[in-house]
Amino acid sequence: MRLREGPFLPLTHRQRPVRYWISNKTPCNLKKNKYLNTFDSMELFPKLQRALNEQGYEQPTPIQAQTIPAAIAGRDVLGCAQTGTGKTAAFALPILDYLGNERPPARPNRPTTLVLAPTRELAIQISESFRVYGKHIRFREALVYGGVRQEGQVRAIRRGVDVLIATPGRLLDLMQQGHIDLGSVEFFVLDEADRMLDMGFLPALEKIISELPSHRQSLFFSATLPPKIRKLASELLFNPISIDVTPKSSSLEGIEQVVKFVQRDKKVTSLQKLLGGESVDRVIVFTRTKHGANGLTRKIEKAGFRAAAIHGNKTQNARQKALEAFRRKKVQVLVATDVAARGIDIAGVTHVVNYDMPVDPESYVHRIGRTGRAGAEGTAVSFCTPDECDELRAIEKLTGKRLTVENPESDFRSSSSSSKTRKTGYRKSFRGNPRARNSNRGRQDRRSSGRGKKTGASNRAGRQKAAAN
Ligand code: AMP
Repeated sequence: MRLREGPFLPLTHRQRPVRYWISNKTPCNLKKNKYLNTFDSMELFPKLQRALNEQGYEQPTPIQAQTIPAAIAGRDVLGCAQTGTGKTAAFALPILDYLGNERPPARPNRPTTLVLAPTRELAIQISESFRVYGKHIRFREALVYGGVRQEGQVRAIRRGVDVLIATPGRLLDLMQQGHIDLGSVEFFVLDEADRMLDMGFLPALEKIISELPSHRQSLFFSATLPPKIRKLASELLFNPISIDVTPKSSSLEGIEQVVKFVQRDKKVTSLQKLLGGESVDRVIVFTRTKHGANGLTRKIEKAGFRAAAIHGNKTQNARQKALEAFRRKKVQVLVATDVAARGIDIAGVTHVVNYDMPVDPESYVHRIGRTGRAGAEGTAVSFCTPDECDELRAIEKLTGKRLTVENPESDFRSSSSSSKTRKTGYRKSFRGNPRARNSNRGRQDRRSSGRGKKTGASNRAGRQKAAAN
């Protein structure tokens, strides 16, 4: 039996997932065998199992094999995993298993499950997953995110929901207006915690968390676990099971990663050449700015390719439309900024192009994880200009892998001018090139934000938050 200590109360019968009480098989299984490698051995609610069969899921992914039994047994979970590892099902299945077995009545304005996601795209995707996995189970869910009118969301919540999927800003808004009461939450899922902090959601998160009852079960997921995230997790979780599915290697496996050295004014032509290549079927192109994404989309379209842009300045409808067109193969190329593309899960993306190198090496891992999903093969091509060599080095350092150079004859790092850049490049590019100035500012932000100063990083976080909400 799981007893909460200190400020926490022991869980009562009614507060615990029913499976824990009607069968203690799962906890025993858990002791004997930490991983349950088939869905059958998890003894999921039959209608849930049926939905998985229909989806063609034969085996749980590693994060699922470890999370689902632990969560069904009532444990808190700290999962180090990113999109693409099957983490949505890892938290959705135990929740649906509970809802299938227990069928608690959905109460107006008082959800029993709260799933927090940093961006609306991810929230929508999570909601779709709940619907797919729970299609044979009676439960109600609602989605709450900013950028759209709130009336429809308020009406849905008033009707009563079991599962509420939300981004923090709008959720807090609706809580403050009295439309949502978190006092009945039994399951709390925090998805992409690191991204939430990057986007400046910590104050909103703290307010939301303070409204949650202490007798709850929490599942916490993050692609990375820097000290700030560990601290948040330790405040949120009670004696959690830690699960690490090593995002770096798992997400990069099966992805061919190449770097192409190009001068800035040759990037568009290089991209067009790439897009016209054989088996270049579905491509996500990453730019650093929203403006850049719009401009590049126009250029690609002019060159005869079907393309759509997705970024934080687009309305929710426009973003959904662009995603749908890409999903249905009506457009071949999706041009995206990092925040907008976060969590996009579209099967069959053959290529990811880093048109602009990412400022954060972590973003590289997230970006290229859009391809090579669910065991498929994918290619990631990074266009690197002389002033982006620092970003390239940071990526290679983080991934522990030297990227294959497509055109070694143009490797700026080995040319004499580049060694000059290497020695003095930081300051030189900082002065000379406004784009490089941004990139350098990104580094400085990270350093100073680590010391807790309010700098451009918090401005960036604010901008990202605005895009998410
Ligand atoms: P996620 O990490 O939750 O975004 O999931 C990534 C992709 O993997 C989604 O397209 C899921 O439908 C798919 N997926 C999740 N779990 C499984 C599984 N056990 N077997 C096959 N595909 C899966």
